Amino acid sequence: MDCPKCSAEMEHVFYNQIEVDRCTSCGGLWFQPDELRDLRNDIWMADYIIDTGDKSAGKKADAIKDYHCPMCNESMLHESDPEQPHITYESCPNGHGTYLDSGEFTDLVKKTFWDKFKRKK
Ligand SMILES: [Zn+2]
Ligand SMILES: [Zn+2]
Repeated sequence: MDCPKCSAEMEHVFYNQIEVDRCTSCGGLWFQPDELRDLRNDIWMADYIIDTGDKSAGKKADAIKDYHCPMCNESMLHESDPEQPHITYESCPNGHGTYLDSGEFTDLVKKTFWDKFKRKK
């Protein structure tokens, strides 16, 4: 699979049983729908293992908003995280997956972790 944003090759990275595609150039991450949910619930070190791309390349890639799903070529839908509206990402309208720029996954899980910590107190 090629990166939907910069067309570079994507590599498979594994965290537990979960396989994620990571761009070898901009560091963007492609999650299948269940993968993102599972990883948010099981975040121990996930960001260190998976989200290792260049964060400045991720910022540049974040400016690219109009691109197509690598599976079905539909225009990706813009979404923002319900808990963290400053994080915007795109998902395939046919449910093939969600693309996060380098650094966004770390941002997403850190806040989730902090929220859990606060709730426990
Ligand atoms: Zn890329
Ligand atoms: Zn698709």
